[in-house]
Amino acid sequence: MNCKIDIKGIAPGEHRYDFHIDRSLFEVYENDTVSEADIEASALLVKGAGCFRLTLEITGTVTVACDRCLADLDIPVEVEQSFVVRFPGGAEEDEDVAEDEIMMGQDASELDLSQVIYDYVCTSLPIRKVHEDGKCDPEMMEKMKDILK
Ligand SMILES: [Zn+2]
Repeated sequence: MNCKIDIKGIAPGEHRYDFHIDRSLFEVYENDTVSEADIEASALLVKGAGCFRLTLEITGTVTVACDRCLADLDIPVEVEQSFVVRFPGGAEEDEDVAEDEIMMGQDASELDLSQVIYDYVCTSLPIRKVHEDGKCDPEMMEKMKDILK
């Protein structure tokens, strides 16, 4: 899974990067909730005077087990978030509550978005993951009834 942007020596202006995310990202974090993922992440990086701004758009689908019937449940993912990329020792800017921050490590020349994308996808998932009423797998529901007897 490569969601890295080489920001060292990057030219001022706008740069766009596209990443495809599959289940391997979730395997890296040993996430066993997500069984499949088909996600497009689009990053727009803007290099301004002494600062970087990043807008991340994440759209796609993740597959989890339904809490009720345990069959596969596809959950759409749609996240859009802006960030200010900060470097150690960089000047503090005015607080802007609409934006999150990404802190770069010392000497970092690459911006690795995999953790950010992972966090935002996980946070966007509903706490209760169930099919719509009546859409649960009837066979699985029968089996569950037997188990719960
Ligand atoms: Zn279900």
